[in-house]
Amino acid sequence: MTTAFDHRLVLAKGRILDGCGNPWFWGDLAIWQGRIAEIAPAGTLQGQQIIDVGGRFVAPGLIDVHTHSDLSMLVNRRAESAVRQGATTHVIGNCGMSPAPLDEDHLADMRHYWGRISEQPEITWEWRTFDQYLQTLQSGGLAINVASLAGHAALRMAVMGLDDREPTPTELARMQELLAEAMEAGAFGISTGLVYPPGCFASTEEIIALGQVVARYHGLYASHVRGERETILDAVAEAIRIGREAGLPVHISHNAPKFGAPCDATANLRLVEEARAQGQDVTVDNDVHTDLGPPLTGGLPQDIQERPVAEITALLQHPDTRRQVREEIVLDRRPAFGPAGLLKHGQWQRITILHAPRSPDVVGQTIEAIARGRGQDPFDVYFDLIVENGHDVDAIFDYIDQADIRTLLQHPAVMICSDGQALAPYGFLNDPPPYSPCSYGEFPGVLERYVRDDPVLTLEEAIRKMTSFPAQRFGLMDRGVLRPGAWADVVVFDLERIHDRATNLYPHRYPAGIDYVFVNGVLVVEGEKHTGALPGKVLRHRRETTT
Ligand SMILES: [Zn+2]
Repeated sequence: MTTAFDHRLVLAKGRILDGCGNPWFWGDLAIWQGRIAEIAPAGTLQGQQIIDVGGRFVAPGLIDVHTHSDLSMLVNRRAESAVRQGATTHVIGNCGMSPAPLDEDHLADMRHYWGRISEQPEITWEWRTFDQYLQTLQSGGLAINVASLAGHAALRMAVMGLDDREPTPTELARMQELLAEAMEAGAFGISTGLVYPPGCFASTEEIIALGQVVARYHGLYASHVRGERETILDAVAEAIRIGREAGLPVHISHNAPKFGAPCDATANLRLVEEARAQGQDVTVDNDVHTDLGPPLTGGLPQDIQERPVAEITALLQHPDTRRQVREEIVLDRRPAFGPAGLLKHGQWQRITILHAPRSPDVVGQTIEAIARGRGQDPFDVYFDLIVENGHDVDAIFDYIDQADIRTLLQHPAVMICSDGQALAPYGFLNDPPPYSPCSYGEFPGVLERYVRDDPVLTLEEAIRKMTSFPAQRFGLMDRGVLRPGAWADVVVFDLERIHDRATNLYPHRYPAGIDYVFVNGVLVVEGEKHTGALPGKVLRHRRETTT
């Protein structure tokens, strides 16, 4: 039995990567009672079970600081696509969205926000408080650890639904109260999604007022900033200002400039460097994918994208309102999410239809090609596909420059995240198969393409950006490193064999070369197979309030 806590297991003769960026060394690592018991020269340690890893790399389990596994992990507690990559901790509650706190009166808004997954039987929506949600996560067991941020959108929705307005003083006070409750329950901070409804309806001052609550608990501010294209520099400056005025660290999410940005990644990183030079704690995460597969409705102006589908269809069917919606998209006065830049700038050749159940003939074609075939304006094709399919039409938007991904990967203040979620190539999470290569292959892909084949990073630096750096950022000081006493979240991989099978192959497959994954000392992946073990913990940020 290899999953018990009560026997000592030794990973022998590995090349040990400590997670801190130090060069690897030959060593043995002993695991006992969930923790790393000992690290010693190769071939010297004894135990009830010895696994000779034969020179493969032994590293801390990977910590993915930007995921959206909040509900997918309830649907499939084995966290398949995460743990098969070597991820042992997911940070959830990103981009302003967490499934709690939740108010009875706004349950419909919340369900609508999460879309189809909210109808799954495993998503009971029985929780109301943040603590109850965390208990729900823990109660059925999880394959990996989870740390959650409190989503600003959830707080706002619980108090004022999807209203496009400022909160009253009473409403703001209620949001602060709910946030304090979430922090008491163990949230690691607050996240915002300032391009999505209802986050985009909030002023900077509203977020500062909430940030002050988080600061009392020593949490952090994580943000999908207010536009990552034309407005990227103002948006990064806003995030930094919020941190400065509320007095808390700032973590900027997936901050690659998207198509339409006036600058390359060096410009937003310069703002981060300047803030750090002035003593402000600002960090960034990014993933290495140049495209995204959202629903086409995500590109509509925020004040209409959350309406019932019949209303959206009616708006798009009438020529006058269709023209107005088109003008709004092009004006982009309230910056919409990154991919919408391709609509604004008429980059129809960069948008390829992935799923469209009621227009199957167009799947695999770009909007530009469909428009040519139909003899139509591409904007009209975009609207017609929404009229035909509602929210069920997804496309691949090719909207990020590879050069920026390399710049971000190399910057010392940028950690590596997936911006994906724990998925599985079976069941609801694969119906229809989502385009989410980051969810299946982010970390192996970095090791394969950016470390081994075309080096942009050293192996040690790449692992640091996946382990000790994210752990430090979220205050998980006993994870993300290989040191006696730390939790035994450990991954064993073969750099020669590592292969991301989620790039050219669709539907996606698990990567190769991730041979063993331990979570809290328990084997979850053995010989690239899931053991079925659910040893993950819901991590809670437990620091005393200063007031
Ligand atoms: Zn985001």
